[in-house]
Amino acid sequence: MTIAVYPGTFDPITYGHMDIIARAAKIFDQVIVAIAASPNKKPLFSLVERQALAKQALDGHQNVSVEGFDSLLLDFVKKSKAQVILRGLRAVADFDYEFQMAAMNRFLDPAIENIFLMPAEKYLYISASLVREIAFYKGDISGFVPEHVAKALYEKGQV
Ligand code: ADP
Repeated sequence: MTIAVYPGTFDPITYGHMDIIARAAKIFDQVIVAIAASPNKKPLFSLVERQALAKQALDGHQNVSVEGFDSLLLDFVKKSKAQVILRGLRAVADFDYEFQMAAMNRFLDPAIENIFLMPAEKYLYISASLVREIAFYKGDISGFVPEHVAKALYEKGQV
């Protein structure tokens, strides 16, 4: 049984995240979307809201679950009995940060593999922060997030 943990802030979940999750769901027996509390990032949505938005977005996947965590990622991974940490790579700009984090995680626990997946080209430029900004100015975000997420973003009315 291969279990992958896909950690992130998911503030909110986008089609880019969902593309990575759909790919992972075909490769791994179980995918746990692990939503980090990340208080230092001052998320627009609370942890509970981010979990609810992700759960609804991922309803169709039998082997995908959504959980929140507020601890060291590796502790969450071990507790979940996962063997893999999954991250998405969009562009070269992501590489430095992801490389550093994967190297740190490997140093802390060499038994856990860090695996990267690339989304479909049309999702390469989506970032949750840009989507939040477009939503703030009432722009069209229907190509970036599912309808219920767009509705929640417009209701927040802040960046
Ligand atoms: P974090 O704050 O940990 O970067 P994010 O929610 O922004 O959390 O991203 C979680 C993961 O999803 C990261 O690995 C990020 O690179 C990846 N990701 C974000 N947007 C996309 C996208 N459009 N396509 C593919 N991967 C993405």
